[in-house]
Amino acid sequence: DATLYIVPTPIGNLDDITARALQTLESVDWIAAEDTRHTQRLLQHFGIKTRTMSLHEHNEDKRATMLVHRLQSGESVALVSDAGTPLISDPGFVLVRKCREEHIKVVALPGPCAAITALSGSGLPTDRFIFEGFLPSRSQARSVALKQLSDRTCTSVFYEAPRRIRDTLLDIQTVLGASRALVLAKELSKSYEAFVSGTAKDIIDWLDAEPGRQKGEFVLMIGGAERVESDLPAPALELLAQLTAELP
Ligand code: SAM
Repeated sequence: DATLYIVPTPIGNLDDITARALQTLESVDWIAAEDTRHTQRLLQHFGIKTRTMSLHEHNEDKRATMLVHRLQSGESVALVSDAGTPLISDPGFVLVRKCREEHIKVVALPGPCAAITALSGSGLPTDRFIFEGFLPSRSQARSVALKQLSDRTCTSVFYEAPRRIRDTLLDIQTVLGASRALVLAKELSKSYEAFVSGTAKDIIDWLDAEPGRQKGEFVLMIGGAERVESDLPAPALELLAQLTAELP
């Protein structure tokens, strides 16, 4: 039916696939997958026999052009990534943009996403947040990125690789100070799921306390900076100074 479906898949627990995701994967002509072998295991588990083709960061341009032609000829396509919602720190943007440009119907299914799952369970404010994807992998660039968000008053959400989590926490301690509130969400929806809250040092201590804790998948969240008085407009600050002077 000439539609591109964006289909989120589980981030650890297979029971998190939605009924609509299964129906869609079963009924489309093609499944475009970040890693076809990985997706094949998911499809096998649910007894789905739809044809797959790869769409990853190295072939996305070419594949997008090819898939747009197939969609224009009336075929339907489901886009999946290895886990969670496609396009969220995953391939798919080039394809969706092309489809929109060509006025091809795009249907995005709601479903698992590590960032949103982590945020909703974190205990940090959720009314305003910024999703930053992955921080730069080198310490110097990472420190620059952290410095840029140091005055932000909303919650920041990051994906982080296990081999970098400890170094990133050390950089946070240096750049944002030792008292900033953080939450680390690990292995969401899996049997060793954990939420660890505290300062960078608290979380490093937790990671170091048992071998294996540094392995797995992580979402790191940084609480916003405390709102300081200087956030107030200048006239308000002036009034505040006058009033303070009057106090005994
Ligand atoms: N598209 C995915 C989504 O919607 O969450 C994210 C893909 S990104 C390449 C993979 C990163 O997501 C991991 O490095 C980790 O930071 C995070 N992640 C994925 N699954 C996770 C889980 N079960 N628990 C914690 N973090 C997870």
